[in-house]
This record gives sequence, C-alpha cells and structure tokens, in this order.
Amino acid sequence: MNDIIKEIQELKKQKKATILAHYYQEGEIQEIADFNGDSLALARAATKVETPIIVFCGVHFMAETAKILNPSKKVLLPDLQAGCSLADSCPADKLARYQEMLRINDRKFQTVTYINSTAAVKSLSDWVVTSGNAENIVKKVPAEMEILFVPDRHLGQYLEEVTGRKMILWDGACMVHEIFSLGDLLAMKKKLPSSMVLAHPECPANIRAYSEFVGGTEAMLNKIATFKTPTDFIVATEPNMMWQMENRFPQHRYHPVPGITCACNKCPHMGRNTLENLRDCLINETPEIVWDPCFDRAKEVLTRSLLN
Ligand code: SF4
Repeated sequence: MNDIIKEIQELKKQKKATILAHYYQEGEIQEIADFNGDSLALARAATKVETPIIVFCGVHFMAETAKILNPSKKVLLPDLQAGCSLADSCPADKLARYQEMLRINDRKFQTVTYINSTAAVKSLSDWVVTSGNAENIVKKVPAEMEILFVPDRHLGQYLEEVTGRKMILWDGACMVHEIFSLGDLLAMKKKLPSSMVLAHPECPANIRAYSEFVGGTEAMLNKIATFKTPTDFIVATEPNMMWQMENRFPQHRYHPVPGITCACNKCPHMGRNTLENLRDCLINETPEIVWDPCFDRAKEVLTRSLLN
C-alpha cells in the first residue's frame, strides 16, 4: 500500500476521525473516505458521525454545512481556500439588499437557496435545496408567494421547467458546468449514437436540451443502476464523478464532455484537496471551520429543509 495512504489510515484511527468526501474529489481521496456522496447525502451523513473529528474533503460551504449540522464536532477542511464560484456569485450583503428592495416594492416572496452558498446566505433564506430535493421543496412554497431562487440561474431555469413555477433568478453559475462544449457533445453523440447523455441541472439549457437524462450526481448513479447491458454514457458533470461511476458500474463505458476552454474541465476548488494536505490536516487538526453567529439561523433553515 502507498505510504501516504497508510499514514492517513493510521492517523484516522489514532485521531478518531471520519473522512467525508464529495463525488467531485479525486478517486484516491474518495477511495480512502469513510463516506462518499453528493451534497445532500454528505449533509445527512455529517449529522450521524460519532467520532470527535470530521475531515471534510469537498469545498468550504460543504464543510461549513457539516459544522452547522453537527456543532459539537471538530470539522476540518484540508484547504480553507477550497471555495466555489457559484457560492461566490451571491455575496450575503448583496442578497440582503436585493431582498430589501423586493420588500419595499411590496413583493411577497420566499428565498429558496441552493446549498452551494455561504452560511450567511443560507441564514437569509427560507429554504435550502440540493439538486436531489429541489423539486420537492419548490412544491412546498405556497402558490401565492413568488420564489427568489439563488444563486444558480441554470438550476433555477431547470426547476422552472420541471415545476412550472416562475421564479426570480439570481445571476450566478458554476464555472465547471457552465462551460461544457455543445459542439464536442454533439460530435461525441454522432460517434456514439446509442449512447446516453447524462447532464447535471447546473448545466445551461443548451446542454440539457441534448441530454437524455438531467439530474444530480446521486440521481445519475441511480439511473445508471437501471442499465444491465454495457452502455456508453456521455457525462456532463465534474469528471471525477466518473471514478464513482466506474467503481460501482464497471460494465459500462463513460465519456466526459470537455469544456470550451479546458479539456479536462475539473473543478479547481475541489482539486485543492490532496492526499498530502489531507494527511497534514489530520496531523495538525487544522484548518478548522469555526462557529460563526450566522450559523444559528442557517441551522434552522438547513434542518427544516434537509433533515425533516
Ligand atoms: S463544481 Fe462548480 S458548484 Fe461544485 S464546487 Fe466547483 S465551482 Fe462550485
């Protein structure tokens, strides 16, 4: 066994730590984790961790969510700079000003926020959704209320299509999902006419329009599970997701859709976590997510939205 993997496994036992990893982490990190999942599954898993330390291999808002939902634990993130372009596109002060403007104009609305957002933004929200539960939550918003959906305009547009609810959409997007090349996707489909295109709802409408299936990462895995005979899947989401697909369903072939500007189209924020800084954060028990006063209100919203 590789030395660093052995070292991490020993440190994990010695420090009584649980490693949670998002599907967009490199395969070597997913392999060593105690639990892999999408944002919803990881948030729920964080509430059940019994060890005193959680090491969260994902990005900042995910580790923050784990801390909010399990406050007595020490939550570590291997690199505190692991951010998210989508979360950055909706600063809390800008959202608060926009909500105030809507109220002054006598608009009755509820704010539905994608989990890819800071705790400060969650604390200004009525609901927090993931791509896995968004449809169900949107249906809970009373019909007489408008919906302000933040921060992902593409997921918002998709939800408008599937629920029939018109929304006020914040102008944010994910830097990975926004730049898939439609030209490359169509060329791949031409080469593999019997393939199935799977796209994440964070993708723009032009990519979704050429996809046979649109869903979050967990939904993609559930879809693949229904295919018994070897199939070609063209995948429009962060390409590390294919490690999980290959691991669970090795009988199929998976083809990543390249980005317009970058052939691999990996998330640079997720890529900040490495085996080396995972080991170091176990040794030093830092960087740590520390409690912030806005976590109290964010906890209420998260618990109501994701756990009840
Ligand atoms: S893939 Fe997109 S939404 Fe996910 S962490 Fe990276 S930038 Fe954020």
